[in-house]
Amino acid sequence: YSKSRGRDQGEIYFSTLNAKSFKHFTLRNDLRKAIDKKQLFIQYMPRVDAQTQQIVGVEALLRWDHPDWGLVSPSEFIPIAEETGMIVPIGNWVLREACLQSKQWIKKGYPPIVLSVNFSVQQLLRNDVLQTIEEILEDTGVSPDHLEIEVTESSFISNEKEVTQVLGELKKRRIKVALDDFGTGYSSLYLLMRLPLDTIKMDKSFVEEILLNPINKSIVISILDLAKSLNMRLVAEGVETPDQYTFLKERRCDEIQGFYFSPPVSPGQFEKLLENKKWQLEMTSEKKDKQE
Ligand code: C2E
Ligand code: MG
Ligand code: MG
Ligand code: MG
Repeated sequence: YSKSRGRDQGEIYFSTLNAKSFKHFTLRNDLRKAIDKKQLFIQYMPRVDAQTQQIVGVEALLRWDHPDWGLVSPSEFIPIAEETGMIVPIGNWVLREACLQSKQWIKKGYPPIVLSVNFSVQQLLRNDVLQTIEEILEDTGVSPDHLEIEVTESSFISNEKEVTQVLGELKKRRIKVALDDFGTGYSSLYLLMRLPLDTIKMDKSFVEEILLNPINKSIVISILDLAKSLNMRLVAEGVETPDQYTFLKERRCDEIQGFYFSPPVSPGQFEKLLENKKWQLEMTSEKKDKQE
């Protein structure tokens, strides 16, 4: 079963596929129509200021509700979208949809927050990438200052020069750039030295073991120091427990993203998070209790 044949001669190869590649095969075929069939949607995950607990940003996370397989994880279908080139139209759809949503929140009177959108390397390497982004910002009325593009370390593997150049162009247009999953790639420190980054997103594997493993703890502290001295914002991903949060807050981590605050949610639910200012209220009532 080869990639090129699988598409045209699906039936012939079908019988030799095991269950896992059968799923892969159907997803690969179905992804092309997923946008038109309105099976794709976006969930929004807050980025929270570690000190004030206010929502300062939001990450758009793509979801696929497949008619047969149900909710398919992006870690399963994004690689397929990348293999097939579908990531370009899908990625553009995500950017436009998320910008429209973000604009709607501003129109409703919520204070503007930074919208972060994940980009694959195939998107960044398109000749028209800057034009596409500018067009979407213009159409939706979102300010470039309120957009952050997240790229993972693996994007640089064989295209370091080209990707770095595009990121530089984004910066010239006042769009922010974040390095996602920091620490999991093959040359994290080398990239830090070269890239025009605003934000480093420390991978959740580091946070997971902060309080369990002393070596891990030392590494996290070093990453926090490094981000500070490079004048980049540090976001800790995957914060799930109060202890993890407290550790990061005390060590002056800038932002927290994780289930401790909220999982990715629908636009309506996200609005409630913005509205309640739930965490702020908790802090205020704590203060009140102390005064009484
Ligand atoms: P990512 O950009 O690193 O996004 C963070 C992932 O970690 C999300 O998974 C989020 O739900 C999860 N996460 C955050 N905090 C916690 C936590 O406290 N506990 C746990 N268990 N998980 C947490 P998700 O939504 O499954 O996305 C997986 C990856 O798929 C993303 O990783 C990103 O690389 C990719 N992805 C998602 N949407 C898009 C998109 O529109 N375009 C591209 N190119 N990639 C996307
Ligand atoms: Mg991300
Ligand atoms: Mg990440
Ligand atoms: Mg990731």
